Amino acid sequence: DVFFQRYLPDEQATNELGAELAAVLLENKDEILSSGLNIRLCGDLGAGKTTLTRALLRALGFEGRVKSPTFTLLEPYSIDGFTLNHFDFYRFEDPEEFEDAGFRENFGPGRVCVTEWTQKAEPLVPGADLMISLLPKDDGREVQVSALTDHGVRIVRGLER
Ligand code: ADP
Ligand code: MG
Repeated sequence: DVFFQRYLPDEQATNELGAELAAVLLENKDEILSSGLNIRLCGDLGAGKTTLTRALLRALGFEGRVKSPTFTLLEPYSIDGFTLNHFDFYRFEDPEEFEDAGFRENFGPGRVCVTEWTQKAEPLVPGADLMISLLPKDDGREVQVSALTDHGVRIVRGLER
């Protein structure tokens, strides 16, 4: 099991992890272009899923506003050479909404898909390569990153360096 864990004492530490993840994604850009990358974010409301995604986008060079997709369900971002699709399925009442919205088309080569509340779209949402869990601990968060595919393994190994 390829697994990485770290204590994030404050939001700044979450932002730093987002920047490290961005650097690893850029190193793995060829594989993102050929097969895409799915990142599942786990954790309760306020755990820091959107904060981490915002930090990732900033570090990838996106300069505009990054808002939570709570109401829009999907916020797509074009960044240097690929697309980052940020999903939040919190408001789904039925996983079929994933099919009805045509979201499957947003997954695949050239796309990094970051999903919040993935369980509300299961089993229709494509499988994740990487799972990132954020858990409250003291005044900060404990983050656990696990690889679910070979592509995920290469990302986690990059974060460990
Ligand atoms: P989610 O998308 O998981 O519902 P948000 O990112 O919207 O959560 O909100 C997370 C909240 O927690 C924000 O108020 C943010 O400032 C704060 N936060 C993020 N990371 C940390 C951290 N490592 N330690 C303490 N607070 C954090
Ligand atoms: Mg959120």
